[in-house]
Amino acid sequence: MISPCWLSALTFLLLLDLTCARQIALLIIDVQNCFLPGGSLAVTEGDKVIPVINNIRSEYKADISLVALSQDWHCSDHISFASQHKGAGPIIQLLYDKSGSLCDENNNCTEVAYNLTQHLWPDHCVINTSSANFSLSLTQEPSDIVIRKGYNCKVDSYSAFYDNGGFRYTELHDKLQEAGIDALIITGLARDYCVYYTAMDAKKLGYETYVVLDATRPVTKATGDSAVADMKIKGIQIIESPDVATVIAQLTSDAIHLQSPFIIMISMIFMFH
Ligand SMILES: [Zn+2]
Repeated sequence: MISPCWLSALTFLLLLDLTCARQIALLIIDVQNCFLPGGSLAVTEGDKVIPVINNIRSEYKADISLVALSQDWHCSDHISFASQHKGAGPIIQLLYDKSGSLCDENNNCTEVAYNLTQHLWPDHCVINTSSANFSLSLTQEPSDIVIRKGYNCKVDSYSAFYDNGGFRYTELHDKLQEAGIDALIITGLARDYCVYYTAMDAKKLGYETYVVLDATRPVTKATGDSAVADMKIKGIQIIESPDVATVIAQLTSDAIHLQSPFIIMISMIFMFH
């Protein structure tokens, strides 16, 4: 019969195992009809990411603790729509006060605190339209979480964590923390905007961050290349889908290495107790 002492040691090791185990989440950014071929803001070959993403989630189902899908979710008169800025060029400046409220159309504010560069886009991903729906080809499970972004009519939101001014955050970070996630595998559209800004915020928030290049496509090659170069500089790991196996094996083996010295030490203490 196991002694109470050994029982305590066993319980401790079990708790330690739970504490040290690396938890991985798969983020699927904006795989919505508006960004797919035929959509109003179609990314070239955007549909090519879908089988790659589906394959990652089915292949590594046992290793992925959480799948989160972000969804661009805009008002019909959203500030990022070119249709709302007749005669303006492709890029405008938007001024906000310190509370994150947009200054009026003449840029009058009691105090301008933020000056954001806003790229203007065709109308896309409007709330409750088929344009905003996820592709039917994308695998979804009831356990997936959906993070909507860009629903503030006056601020754009590329990142799935924060709006472009950093004024307000989504529930993504809290959900990942609740699930004990510490590593993120990021996929989706578009590589040079929403994937890029999500990955940059993920890294800043302390997640070990991987972007699967062939599970993303850029709006343009130039901005895509520049985003990849910047992500590399910031310590974000840029990988291809065949590398996911190695990454997951590495994360798992890191957990084992972390536990081993503790297991040996605690075992020895109890052996000689
Ligand atoms: Zn958008």
